Amino acid sequence: MILKDKYNRLHNYLRISLTEACNFHCIYCNPKESHKLSHSEPDILNFDEIERIIKIFLGLGFNKIRFTGGEPLARKNVGQLFERIKKLKEIFSFELSITTNGTLINGNLGELKANGLDRINFSLDSLNRQTFENITGRDKLDAVLKSIKDTSAAGYETTKINTVIMKGINDNEILDFCQFSIDNKVNVRFIEFMPFSNNSWKEERMFDSSSIMEIISKKYKPEPAGIDSGPARNYTIEKGRGKISFISSMTEHFCSQCNRLRITSDGKMKLCLFSPENELLNLSAMLRDKTKTDFDIIKAIDRQLQSKEFEHRTIEELTELKDINMLKIGG
Ligand code: SAM
Ligand code: SF4
Repeated sequence: MILKDKYNRLHNYLRISLTEACNFHCIYCNPKESHKLSHSEPDILNFDEIERIIKIFLGLGFNKIRFTGGEPLARKNVGQLFERIKKLKEIFSFELSITTNGTLINGNLGELKANGLDRINFSLDSLNRQTFENITGRDKLDAVLKSIKDTSAAGYETTKINTVIMKGINDNEILDFCQFSIDNKVNVRFIEFMPFSNNSWKEERMFDSSSIMEIISKKYKPEPAGIDSGPARNYTIEKGRGKISFISSMTEHFCSQCNRLRITSDGKMKLCLFSPENELLNLSAMLRDKTKTDFDIIKAIDRQLQSKEFEHRTIEELTELKDINMLKIGG
């Protein structure tokens, strides 16, 4: 069996939030004043439950699994989870990746690679130490840069960097990030600032992809380099070792190609990044109900998928939604 929604979109990419906790307070995600963990530790899926979910989705033809959060590497004993998932690679063919702020890697890239982690996306919104601290609340720029630099020695191909550009905060670094992609074998992905209920999003703060491109085009001649399987539009810059990309989640949404499902750290399935709490499927309850078989869970997943909308709400509607925060969803 494979999972297709009523618009015939094949779903084969699962993102799992391992924890809501994070050691950063990024202003666009987890501002210091806003966050309280919305569930207690026992509510979080344990490793047996995560493994069972992953197996179910791999059985449904999913071929990409991404761990995210919160900060996925802040999850206690996360290495043990990687070891378990690695064993699944003997049975299923899939790619395992994480999105991380890069500060908790602690030189363990080789070990992560050996444990089956195929790809790492880093979040990095400033190359300036002070701005980095203003955005994240932590003076950790050097630690992140070191982790990024170490990836190729650990055997990783081009590393992706997620950069959220915000007007008046880091928009003065757009060209610095281009230079970073020229000097390093990295793919810098400019992501449009998205509204969530806790992040005091304002339209005036948003810097859309076309405005970013306008700035870049004054200095460089970016050449289109296609799209990956995901939502990014890629470009190369002459003599660049890496590339740049745009993820225009706000101005040119890519819902028509959506192939993703998301699991929150407390085991709820989300059809869309912006699905509100009352539209989630409580997988955790089914996993903990001894009368429910994997087949019951698959039927519930498929039924829920059939209610997936063709596209996400408008910006105006999104800014009205309550109780959607990025830490919980996992990006
Ligand atoms: N802690 C990890 C990290 O920062 O990479 C993983 C979780 S984080 C929620 C996943 C991604 O979501 C990050 O790349 C971050 O930049 C992005 N993100 C968070 N809030 C966002 C927002 N309001 N708009 C756009 N991207 C956002
Ligand atoms: Fe933490 Fe990632 Fe959110 Fe920053 S973007 S607060 S690192 S979860």
